[in-house]
Amino acid sequence: MTHMAEEMKKLTEQLVSIGSVNGTFGEKEVALFIEGYLREIPYFKEHPQQVIIQPLEKDTLNRRNVFALVKGEKNHTEETIIFHGHMDTVGIEDYGGLKAYAWNPKELKEKMLAMELPEEVRRDLESDDWMCGRGACDMKSGVAVFMVLLKYFSKHVEELSGNILLSVNPVEENLHTGIIEGRKVLEELQEKENLHYILAINNDYTCPLYEGDTNHYLYTGAVGKLLPGFYVQGKETHVGQCFEGFDASVAAAKLAERISLNTEFCDVYEGESTLPPSVLKLKDLKDFYNVQTAFSALVYFNYFVHNASMESIVAKLKQAGEEVFAEMENSMNEQYTKYCKISKTAGKELHYHKKVYTYEELYQAVTEKSQK
Ligand SMILES: [Zn+2]
Repeated sequence: MTHMAEEMKKLTEQLVSIGSVNGTFGEKEVALFIEGYLREIPYFKEHPQQVIIQPLEKDTLNRRNVFALVKGEKNHTEETIIFHGHMDTVGIEDYGGLKAYAWNPKELKEKMLAMELPEEVRRDLESDDWMCGRGACDMKSGVAVFMVLLKYFSKHVEELSGNILLSVNPVEENLHTGIIEGRKVLEELQEKENLHYILAINNDYTCPLYEGDTNHYLYTGAVGKLLPGFYVQGKETHVGQCFEGFDASVAAAKLAERISLNTEFCDVYEGESTLPPSVLKLKDLKDFYNVQTAFSALVYFNYFVHNASMESIVAKLKQAGEEVFAEMENSMNEQYTKYCKISKTAGKELHYHKKVYTYEELYQAVTEKSQK
């Protein structure tokens, strides 16, 4: 293994050892470590102002973005490549009994090898090509690669045409506050240092597309992400009068079924399709147990987008909602008719006031009502 690859591996282990689960003080710790590494590089000792630390606004965990700019001296050009990564990880609950080793790749591997494992996993672990540990893959190894590369380029600025800007952010695994606030620094640097950003490389993990896939993928372009949600208000009823309500839980479940993984919602742009939506949360909004059906429920989706407009997406989702509610009413009537038959009772057709509002429409309606 080359010297650089060796350093990347070692650095990954160090970064993993500083647990930086999203929403913990570890995010600050790991930022301090990255900053320390950069400030030790001779180039940044000479140009300390080119390491920029941006504390997040009003952040109780003191999290911060870390930027570092290496300016090429071969030809002075404005062209700049951004090395973009995140320093936080998801939690370690899923390690179960191995939680104590989640931040120690070597020990974790030993412990795992002592367990019963699927053949493929055992083979990988024994091959020495794999490192385990929370964040090893997503994406501390990626950050380590950038850090070592940046050091390399900083030692060879006379051969470097163009500039490299490292940007490592916290809070990636949920709200993205790091990169959102980081845009300010990117824009300031653009202005002050006269940078022209031509490319941003994010070397977060990629994965096989199917079992046994050994390709390594590189993705170009960008994909947008929306988080559309439905708040469902039904009509609660006692389970002893179950046909008298409109169950918000069932409606939310039907929305999930209608929208999740449905390729109708893929956004195809220039021959490339996004992945379909996935349900990220589905719950009723009952606070406690009782024998009533749920009055309200919510469901929201991860929704990828290339080029479709918000208007067209909202219209599609609204239509899906209307269809789902109509189908739900039909199937309730179908079951109710059957029930009346088997229980030998009389019943009337069920009708509900079904309406799907966008947030904007609801807001408007409420505003109008409150002004009356
Ligand atoms: Zn990631």
